[in-house]
Amino acid sequence: MTPERSKEILALLQKYYGDTRPDLRFMSLYELAVAVVLSAQTTDRQVNGATPGLFGKYPSFAELAKAKKGDVERLVKSTGFFRHKARNIIGLASMVMTEYGGNLPSTRDELMKLPGIGRKSANVILSVGFGIPALAVDTHIIRIANRIGYADSRNPDEVEKALTSVIPEKGWTKAHLLLIRHGRTLCIARKPRCSECPVIALCDFVNNIP
Ligand code: SF4
Repeated sequence: MTPERSKEILALLQKYYGDTRPDLRFMSLYELAVAVVLSAQTTDRQVNGATPGLFGKYPSFAELAKAKKGDVERLVKSTGFFRHKARNIIGLASMVMTEYGGNLPSTRDELMKLPGIGRKSANVILSVGFGIPALAVDTHIIRIANRIGYADSRNPDEVEKALTSVIPEKGWTKAHLLLIRHGRTLCIARKPRCSECPVIALCDFVNNIP
């Protein structure tokens, strides 16, 4: 992949999808961090269904840190792995209160020390929450990056490196949102809808471009 070809691909996706926003609903860094933890192994829609009740009862890190685990489990049950997730979000809230004075930290290293936050989640919080360039790599992005020809690896760190080496830093957040949208719309896992795809002429999956 060259930076020029990547630029063309992203411009075509931008033209096709227009404005792209995260599907997770949140109104604050607190809500974003909790929603991101809840989004593991489930859809954003499931998370969006659970968070209004959760945030209604616990509107801040301070309230969630003091919550009873059983009460939180009931509120996040629909997102799956609810015992684990309840423990993580209460633990995250406690750590933000005790170690960061109630403010979500804004570096990747600090974020990755919080329960339930790995590199992908930290990158989502950095880019979407703090406006700091970061390219979060999830299963959609791994699949698309391999199909189009950005990467030849299923390892998220390697895919992130491949993408960030040809996409200028200021475009990382936008690229993340466009590729996710593409993965949910046309470049779907089971049978990609290549005949409708705006980047078909530039995609290795179809053209076997060297
Ligand atoms: S041409 Fe097909 S495989 Fe390539 S990006 Fe488009 S939908 Fe995905």
